[in-house]
Amino acid sequence: MFLGWLIMLEIYHQYSLAIELLNRRARVSIIHRETGIPKELLRKTYNELHGCSPSRGAVKYSTQGLTRNNKSYKEVTLFAVCFAKVDSISQESCIKKIIQAFDIYKQIIPTGQLSFSAAWVIAKDIALRAIELRPCNHCGAPVLLNARENGIDRCGVCRTKFNQ
Ligand SMILES: [Zn+2]
Repeated sequence: MFLGWLIMLEIYHQYSLAIELLNRRARVSIIHRETGIPKELLRKTYNELHGCSPSRGAVKYSTQGLTRNNKSYKEVTLFAVCFAKVDSISQESCIKKIIQAFDIYKQIIPTGQLSFSAAWVIAKDIALRAIELRPCNHCGAPVLLNARENGIDRCGVCRTKFNQ
């Protein structure tokens, strides 16, 4: 009896999620993955919203590709802290938690270089336990383990190497 209503509600949720993601300049491939909405429509809407074409380059699908220097490592770690906090208190879906954590990250450092798509990759790696937050043994700052390209876990604040 309410099937039509439920289907329309589901479609409404998918489209409103897509708009939230488009507003944050998420990659079209990520929005498509999260909502199932055709890529052509997403590209067209992205263009209308931002006045430029969405980037067509490949998404870096691992956190290690996002931490080339100490500054970017610190930003990645900050987002990981935001996501872990939201994840510990929210019952929402993973994508909603990523949106919330990304907005908090942007409030903390509005000039931060991390894109929404990068945040998405980091959150997925946390969910898969490919990377992990631990306090630094020396200064107590959060250290994101297994997140560096060179494989050496080092505190972003005091530069102390992390001992297992
Ligand atoms: Zn430290």
